[in-house]
Amino acid sequence: MKKQAPYRQDMVIHYQASHVLTDRLLHSWVRCNRKAWLDRYGNPASRVWSAHRALQLDHQQKSFNELIPNKPGQGIRACQAGAEAVVGVRLKGFGPSNELLEAHPPFLQRVSGTSRWGEFMYRPVIARQGRKLTRDHKLALSLIGLLLEQLQKSPVPNGLVISKAHTGLEHQTISLDKASLQKQLKDSLIKLNADLIRSEPPALTSDRRKCSLCSWRGLCNIEAKATGNLNEVSGIGSKRKQMLHEVGISTVHDLATANPIALSNSLQTFGEQHGQVAPQLVSQAKVQDIGIPKRLNLAPAIPELKKAPGVLLYDIESDPDIHDDFLHGFIRLNRKRNGQWDLNGAKYQPILALHEHGSALCWKRLKRKLTIYKDWPVLHYGETEAISLIRLATKQGANEKELAELRNQLIDIHSRLRLHWLLPLNNYGLKVVANWTGFHWKHKGVDGARALLWWRQWRSAKQEARRKSNQLKWLLQYNQDDCFATWAVAKWLFNQD
Ligand code: SF4
Repeated sequence: MKKQAPYRQDMVIHYQASHVLTDRLLHSWVRCNRKAWLDRYGNPASRVWSAHRALQLDHQQKSFNELIPNKPGQGIRACQAGAEAVVGVRLKGFGPSNELLEAHPPFLQRVSGTSRWGEFMYRPVIARQGRKLTRDHKLALSLIGLLLEQLQKSPVPNGLVISKAHTGLEHQTISLDKASLQKQLKDSLIKLNADLIRSEPPALTSDRRKCSLCSWRGLCNIEAKATGNLNEVSGIGSKRKQMLHEVGISTVHDLATANPIALSNSLQTFGEQHGQVAPQLVSQAKVQDIGIPKRLNLAPAIPELKKAPGVLLYDIESDPDIHDDFLHGFIRLNRKRNGQWDLNGAKYQPILALHEHGSALCWKRLKRKLTIYKDWPVLHYGETEAISLIRLATKQGANEKELAELRNQLIDIHSRLRLHWLLPLNNYGLKVVANWTGFHWKHKGVDGARALLWWRQWRSAKQEARRKSNQLKWLLQYNQDDCFATWAVAKWLFNQD
């Protein structure tokens, strides 16, 4: 019997063709067509909270405060009164194809010109998180500009994108009267509308990396697994999925049972690299299909552990938007005389790197620790820690010999795992792999975004509030758990050796 997709039963609250297109729906749609559909029709109970939105709002607020420190006015009355900045306006109007549109501009700035309210007018301002201006930012400004023009009865020639960075407030003016941007908005609204009047949600996005930040990930993960979606196989993105479809492979099971040589020949037509990767994809799919890990390489995965007197487990917490590695967490794990690892005596030793103290002090403290334990391997998961540490050391004038010793001391458990094993998992991130080995984080459902939110909240609180808050404590616990999770994976690998 054909399985019902999960959203067909309890996960959709209602389906009705509604005609209003909003800025929020457009934002979701640009990210993933399916997300817009689920935002409108999905059951809110199926949503998983993500700290990502809270981080965005926090950054947005700080950026707006930096642009105009005075309290903004509220609603249309503030526009009529000519307030310098206005929030809380709801815009309604019509789109280029007569669609009903609605938007809540996060911030309006008074600029010179003429409008129905007098010798001034407004332009939209949005905050950009991340380093690049995206299509999403441009479309958001364009949509708000279109509706604002209808409200203030005066053209909106440009909008402003701002971002609070380490170095101050970054500004970028976007011209809204360009025909190309207006056409993009028109086409996007037509497509968004077409997706929203469907009776079933659009397919899962092919770039499943986006899903880690999406509130619908729980629901979509269930569907991806149930339908054997090819993107569930590590190494298959949208392009490769398309190629596999073209050669008749549609599910994980199809791939798991394919002949690697025949598949390699078929994929070769799309380029040599696709042919070469085919046997690896078949092996990964097979492992996921039957649920049993497969060893790729018989050499020990972490030979350095055999005689190590102890290990340092290392994990960095960062604010990627401003390149700030604010916490370097270490666990000192000693080895007892009988060769056992002394987990009960493991000691967590965090180093907070406040940028007002400067990177020279941070490097001095890190160097001292690494020198004390110079014979101990430093285990970390993923390349971030090694890249950051080497970059910091280079900046602080470490010579070639010191850098070589540092590289030698650092062991990336993720890369050793990938070199030696295939696991029955759809990704090899620390959370997924450590959970699979049986490790559990103390704080359930916490991820890097939530940890970053705790950090930003703690940093922006006043001294007295900081003392009373638990955010730093939770952040340290989370980082400590990341270090222990790294050990859980390393120990699994070591035990297989
Ligand atoms: S979880 Fe992924 S596929 Fe599902 S709606 Fe979100 S981004 Fe789209």
